[in-house]
Amino acid sequence: MSARPLDVVAREAAGCTRCRLAQTRTQVVFGAGNPRADLLFIGEAPGLHEDKQGEPFVGAAGQLLTRMLEGIGLTREEVYIANILKCRPPGNRDPLPDEIEACTPWLVETISAIQPRLIVTLGNFATKFVLQTQTGITRMRGSVYDWHGRAVIPTFHPAAILHGGGEKSRQFGELQEDFRLIKATLDPPVPTASQRPLLDLRRDEHPPPPSDDQLELF
Ligand code: URA
Repeated sequence: MSARPLDVVAREAAGCTRCRLAQTRTQVVFGAGNPRADLLFIGEAPGLHEDKQGEPFVGAAGQLLTRMLEGIGLTREEVYIANILKCRPPGNRDPLPDEIEACTPWLVETISAIQPRLIVTLGNFATKFVLQTQTGITRMRGSVYDWHGRAVIPTFHPAAILHGGGEKSRQFGELQEDFRLIKATLDPPVPTASQRPLLDLRRDEHPPPPSDDQLELF
């Protein structure tokens, strides 16, 4: 079955009553950004500001995320940002297992519609959901994982940095390292002219015809 367009999914999600959070939210915070993004960020759940404004990551943690993106030459408009839960848990408590179970089909549809090349999971909840692991973020971060043919990079939730040692902390240095890994995963280095053979005599004399993918480049 082909994926439904993201705006159709978002419109339907706006009236969601699949869990108790429908009674306390101001609005559903579906996600924001480029519906054709290569890079998808998944956070935990909307907080106070996100619940008021209807957009993910607009509070202090969001400002840090925006700066980290700018540090690798990206804007929020170029990526897509979503959460495990679409509605704010009262008092910003942790998501409950039945809320995650009720809500994550929206996220799965989001991934199917966007088809990102790289997913960055922010913090434990997103990492555990996507990679189906019980291992904590401190051990998971710093590597690229494969998930159904896509790359996944887990990293710290920006709120954890703000509530921990801030920008002087070791974790902030590791967050910066992870963003460099995000950039390198999105833009693998182009070989320099001196590394590119003009004519590679080891290849077949009759190279295979270009694939459909290659033809799309022209
Ligand atoms: N924290 C999250 O996980 N998501 C938001 O949208 C905001 C803060």
